[in-house]
Amino acid sequence: MPSKRLRLELHTQILLGLALGAIFGLLGNHFGWGSWINTWIKPFGTAFIRLISLVVVPLVLASLIIGTASLGDPRKLGRVGLKTILYYLLTTAFSIALGLFLANLLQPGAGLPASVKDQLLSSFSGQLDIAVSKTARPSVAETLLNIIPTNPAQSLANGQMLQIIFFAILVGVAISLSRSEKVVYVQHFFEGLNDVMIQIVHLVIKVAPFGVFALIASVVASFGFHILVSLVKYAAVTILGLVILNFVYPPIVRVLAGMRAKQFLKGIQQAQLIAFSTSSSSATLPVTIQCTTENLGVPLDIASFVLPLGATINMNGTALYQGVSALFIAQVYGLHLTAADQLMIVLTATLAAIGTAGAPGIGMLMLVIVLKQVGIPLEGIALILGVERILDMFRTVINITGDASAAVVVAASEGELKIPETSG
Ligand code: ASP
Repeated sequence: MPSKRLRLELHTQILLGLALGAIFGLLGNHFGWGSWINTWIKPFGTAFIRLISLVVVPLVLASLIIGTASLGDPRKLGRVGLKTILYYLLTTAFSIALGLFLANLLQPGAGLPASVKDQLLSSFSGQLDIAVSKTARPSVAETLLNIIPTNPAQSLANGQMLQIIFFAILVGVAISLSRSEKVVYVQHFFEGLNDVMIQIVHLVIKVAPFGVFALIASVVASFGFHILVSLVKYAAVTILGLVILNFVYPPIVRVLAGMRAKQFLKGIQQAQLIAFSTSSSSATLPVTIQCTTENLGVPLDIASFVLPLGATINMNGTALYQGVSALFIAQVYGLHLTAADQLMIVLTATLAAIGTAGAPGIGMLMLVIVLKQVGIPLEGIALILGVERILDMFRTVINITGDASAAVVVAASEGELKIPETSG
């Protein structure tokens, strides 16, 4: 199978890009070429992110319309929708609970010296003001109403994912209900648009090794490693939780979908690498769709429904990060959080993770809501800003892994998963 060999090769190339980028970035960091790398290398990474991001809106629109239309029966749509949302809610709540459990057990914030605390607070509080001021807090009713677009063209232009999803599902349902013969042309148009977007992804992914190199090099080159030392325990607990989550999905997929752990993890590796490099579930979405349909045997109609929704509302990695971070900050401030407070964190962080857009750094902004809810000082966010980008990279990997596992599980529950034969 030549295409498989090609994919494996590309995959190795991306890994190589990542490793070389990290080495180059480390050298840059050490020898002070950080700004040179940011000026001359980073733009290639940014170009890569822009290239895959440009596909997202038309791809989500087209794939969700044809996905919904080909689910056909509105009852099936309701069933798939319900299972997807249930799976997302349960895994999100589990992820926060795991984060809280680890932070309670390992107490990452307990021994942070007061001098380090003050230093972190003073060096990052400027960035914090910007972060907090960006967080608007609409009411629950407003948030729900906002899902219904008044002008879909505007939603598409502004990349309002939930509104686009709502509109696309509605168009898909209308196509499947309509008896007009002309509707077939509309469906064919979106099928064609979808194919074109997927073709663009195939083209863009070829330059992924260079994009990944540039992204990683610039992140590593401008990273303050001295900060990592003081926050090493916090970063380690968060990453430990994320790694545990990464290995929670395979047994779920094994039990609920009969897919071997190795096949699942191998099948989504390419998307994981892109997620790690871009820190954006949305930008990774085209690759996640490609991996789940081509490597894991999820039919396109289910993948096109479950994954765009997941990239927008399901953030398991972010949820875990919010749990650990809230507790870490509370521990540094010497605040004791009762069981009720922690339950409140699970509830608000579930909502905050749903409200987190799949873009870099948004999980940290939404942390503001969680902290406010339980009365943890907001300026505490300044404590963790130094390692924010690195943790964002890891949590985005888990965000898209959770989405992919949902696609596999939902497809299996509908009896539509066609697990591809693998040689190893
Ligand atoms: N960067 C994450 C994502 O795109 C969201 C976040 O946690 O900041 O999935």
